[in-house]
Amino acid sequence: MYHRSPGYGCIEVVCGSMFSGKTEELLRRVKRAQIARQKVQVFKPVIDNRYSVDHVQSHNANKVASRPIEKARDILRFVDDNTRVVGIDEAQFFDEAVVEVAQKLAFRGIRVIVAGLDMDFRGQPFGPMPRLLAVAEDVTKLSAVCVVCGNPASRSQRIVPTGAAEADGGRIAVGGNEMYEARCRFCHEPDVIAANGTSSASGAPESAGGTE
Ligand SMILES: [Zn+2]
Repeated sequence: MYHRSPGYGCIEVVCGSMFSGKTEELLRRVKRAQIARQKVQVFKPVIDNRYSVDHVQSHNANKVASRPIEKARDILRFVDDNTRVVGIDEAQFFDEAVVEVAQKLAFRGIRVIVAGLDMDFRGQPFGPMPRLLAVAEDVTKLSAVCVVCGNPASRSQRIVPTGAAEADGGRIAVGGNEMYEARCRFCHEPDVIAANGTSSASGAPESAGGTE
C-alpha cells in the first residue's frame, strides 16, 4: 500500500519521432524545475553514448548533467532523498522495469519526466514506451517535419549508407542525422532504405532489446 507523499508525484511522457525535439522539451522542463530550486536528476541508458557519457545533450547541444544507467532498476538506487524531479531520456532503450521504476518514484511524490521514441524505425511501438504512455498523467506527442512532403512527421525513417544495408538488423541504432530522417505516415517505408534510394527488405529478425 502506498501513502501519498508531499509534493506532486506524477509521470509525464514526452514522445515522438526522431528530430521532434523530445530531448529539448525534457531539458526545457528540467531547467524550469531548476529555476524553481527543485533538485533534479536526469538518467539515460548507457547505450546512448552518441555525444557524451555524462550529459543529456540534444541535437541542439543543450546540456544537463545526467547519469548513464545500465538497468532501469538502478535508477532507484541513485535517486537522492531530496530529489523532486527525475528525468529519464531515451526511455525506449530501457528494459520494461522502467515502468515500475517510474511508478514507484511518482508514488514517492517525485515528478517523473520521461522522453523517448514512441515508435521504432519500422513504425512499431518501441520497448516500454506503450506502457509508460498508458500509466502517465500527462502525454506530449511531438512531431518533426516530413523531409519528403513537408507535413508533420510522426515516424523515423532508417536510411542506410550504400553498401551497409545488411550490416545491422537492429531495431534502432543510436545515431544522429546521417542514419535517420523524419517522415509522415504516408512517406514512411518500414523497410530500410539505402542511401541511393532503393528499398532493402533484408528480413533481418527484429531485435527485442535495441541495438545489439
Ligand atoms: Zn510525408
